[in-house]
Amino acid sequence: MDRVSSRATSDPVRLEHRGCPLGCAQADRPLLVGRDRLLGLPGRFRVVQCRGCGLARTDPRPTRECIGRYYPEDYHWAPIPGERRRLPPILRALRDALSDAHGTATPPQPPGRLLEVGCGMGTYLHEMAGRGWAVEGIEPSPTASDAARGLGYRVQAGGVETAEPPGHAVDLVVAWFVLEHLHDPLAALRRLRGWVRPGGWLAASVPDLASLDYRLFRSRWYSLHLPHHLFHYTPATLRRVVGEAGWQVERVFHQRNVLNLAGSLGLVLEGDLGRGHPLARPFLACCEGSRWNYVLAPLARFLAHYGHTGRMCIWARRP
Ligand SMILES: [Zn+2]
Repeated sequence: MDRVSSRATSDPVRLEHRGCPLGCAQADRPLLVGRDRLLGLPGRFRVVQCRGCGLARTDPRPTRECIGRYYPEDYHWAPIPGERRRLPPILRALRDALSDAHGTATPPQPPGRLLEVGCGMGTYLHEMAGRGWAVEGIEPSPTASDAARGLGYRVQAGGVETAEPPGHAVDLVVAWFVLEHLHDPLAALRRLRGWVRPGGWLAASVPDLASLDYRLFRSRWYSLHLPHHLFHYTPATLRRVVGEAGWQVERVFHQRNVLNLAGSLGLVLEGDLGRGHPLARPFLACCEGSRWNYVLAPLARFLAHYGHTGRMCIWARRP
């Protein structure tokens, strides 16, 4: 077991090596060595790719017991539901037309029971409750899960690995940018499949390592997010992992936004010019929902069409 110095305590962070979760016998090939560029936490981390199935992973990685040290208290920050700016109707219609509903699109079906894994402060739960869904969530951050419960929803604090099963079979499980954070995504996906009714759905999103923006930026790619991201998927490996967990994959598609591209440019400028440099700020602000997202919507649609926005979604069904 390797060690790196810790952020919050003098205890070393414990690192562990794990083989490909798909059980491939082939050796790994090294992809890159990177560091945390979003929060500036210490440590350098290696990403390797399985020569058998192509699934990439952070290796070695912080253990389950230590990974919490890399998540600051405000990691799950999100706009508080109901506080969206009021706009005149014509601007509101334009905003809705240009915004990326594709990023959290779910398979067409009437409202039923929805479980969100990694629900943060409950923004999405609140939105779906407003559309008639009976919602509940699971969220590792105690602060964020408290906030989501404060909105009146059943939200368990903790991970999907240890959460109590929902009281009823659910119709739809969503996991927006969660699978890349899990130590054992296969076990989690199998567990979730058991909670969904036969014919029910999984909708999930993850960064796409096969995208143009990863190839351009490599260790400075915005969505690399080391060491928080333990797995780095491509459309092929995402299909493989979800399928291996017993789901029938129906569709993989790309989100219509350029958040990764803007964020990566911001990180490159910050790295070269210094943290908080005014030239890097507009690019990083783009990732937090600035107006540039609307201006860049046509480019985002073009890149999404060719599978190069660096963020993808999967829809899969329990057979
Ligand atoms: Zn493999």
